[in-house]
Amino acid sequence: MNGVYDVVIPTIGRPSLLALLRSLEAADGPLPRNVIVVDDRRDRSQALPCGPFVPGTDFSRRIVVIAGAARGPAAARNRGWRHAAAPWVAFLDDDVVVDGSWRRDLAADLASCGARVAGVAGNVTVPLDASRRPTDWERNVRGLEGARYITADFAFRRAALERTGGFDERFPRAYREDAELALRILADGWTLETGRRRVRHPVRPADAWISVRLQAGNADDVLMEALHGREWHDRATSWRERSRAYLATVACAVASVAFGIAFVARVLRFAWRRIAPGPRTPREIATMLATSAVIPFAATFHRVRAALRIRETLRRPARRAAAVLFDRDGTLIEDVPDLRDPRDVRPVDGARSALARLRDAGIACGVVTNQPRVGEGDLAAEELSALHARLDRYLGPFATIQACVHARDAGCACRKPEPGLVLAAAREAGADPADCVVVGDIGSDVDAARAAGARAILVPTRDTLAEEIARAPHVARDLGAAVDLILSGAV
Ligand SMILES: [Mg+2]
Repeated sequence: MNGVYDVVIPTIGRPSLLALLRSLEAADGPLPRNVIVVDDRRDRSQALPCGPFVPGTDFSRRIVVIAGAARGPAAARNRGWRHAAAPWVAFLDDDVVVDGSWRRDLAADLASCGARVAGVAGNVTVPLDASRRPTDWERNVRGLEGARYITADFAFRRAALERTGGFDERFPRAYREDAELALRILADGWTLETGRRRVRHPVRPADAWISVRLQAGNADDVLMEALHGREWHDRATSWRERSRAYLATVACAVASVAFGIAFVARVLRFAWRRIAPGPRTPREIATMLATSAVIPFAATFHRVRAALRIRETLRRPARRAAAVLFDRDGTLIEDVPDLRDPRDVRPVDGARSALARLRDAGIACGVVTNQPRVGEGDLAAEELSALHARLDRYLGPFATIQACVHARDAGCACRKPEPGLVLAAAREAGADPADCVVVGDIGSDVDAARAAGARAILVPTRDTLAEEIARAPHVARDLGAAVDLILSGAV
């Protein structure tokens, strides 16, 4: 009598039920006392797919259909085993197919059980298409193959079920209710074993969202933890890590939503500060809303970019001259009284290298010189041209050479300290007067620069008056020092 068993199959009316019953009928070995099908459908208006079996056969007479409460597999199984009378209750899920020797193997499994063995599990195989890699859903179902306490095929001693009360009906779905019962049975002093019989568990078709719906099982994990402690699942540790990863993902989503709300709030507050004092027309409000969202990014972008480039920026001069206009006599060349012969044109020390440094820096060089002897009849225009040709040969090329040839008392607008020469030179050099630096040796050079809106550096000679040096904005001891001031941006 020890090997006498009932089969309990909770079902929600899946067509696979018929395949299971047929495989059960076709298997060899001792027949179950009863096959108790618990009809757990909410709507029982249609017949269950239990037939057609030949009426009156030994197998079909043993099929008993009882109504479930439609409260999930735990409740349905409880109803089934309470209806059973045999010492063993073999639970089968309605989506498995038993092996051809299942009944015989079950009999052997049960016969080998000692008195303290409360149950024997079957072995589940999940047939997959070997020609391709399994999908996520198929891999999920395949997980049944390794699970120890699943009721897809599990035979329990009815006495163990009675002692423990059977399944905990607070588990509403086919997820943790089987492992939960196993834990209580083990805690009651029984053991559980795995037998030799086999069932196949085909992968049923599922839609794209099955993996999402399965997450409802997390609720069962929470109940399991509450009932059996956090360590109940020590044989499969991955789920808790995954649940932590899910938690982290959700935390990120919550944080990003919170930051999004904070961002919108800050933009609205900023926009309101700009809208409130204004005309508040729809156009103005729309403009303020749009730009208030962009301004923080634009401001931060410019600030960060400038900060990243600040070393390079600081290396550049604060000001950059476009042209340097030199006085001639006493500045570029030695001041020779009554200079007429080009052979007497002698550049001052350092003039050539000073000009070269400016030209290398891309700064145009020009000459602004008062030559009243022409207007006073003491020097021919051709003689002046010859002198300047020599000057250009020694120190050129100059972007411009501007000479005022009017007599000292002619009252012209170009004779330094008037601004005319400087303005003309700036124009010819293609520079704004404000970007020009006049370098001269006397006060009228400085004054002409001031009058034209240009900058000035005085390079004094023996003839320069102390008073002129005192009121010059910048003073350099020689042309090289003047160029230093210009290239450093100090002038
Ligand atoms: Mg001079």
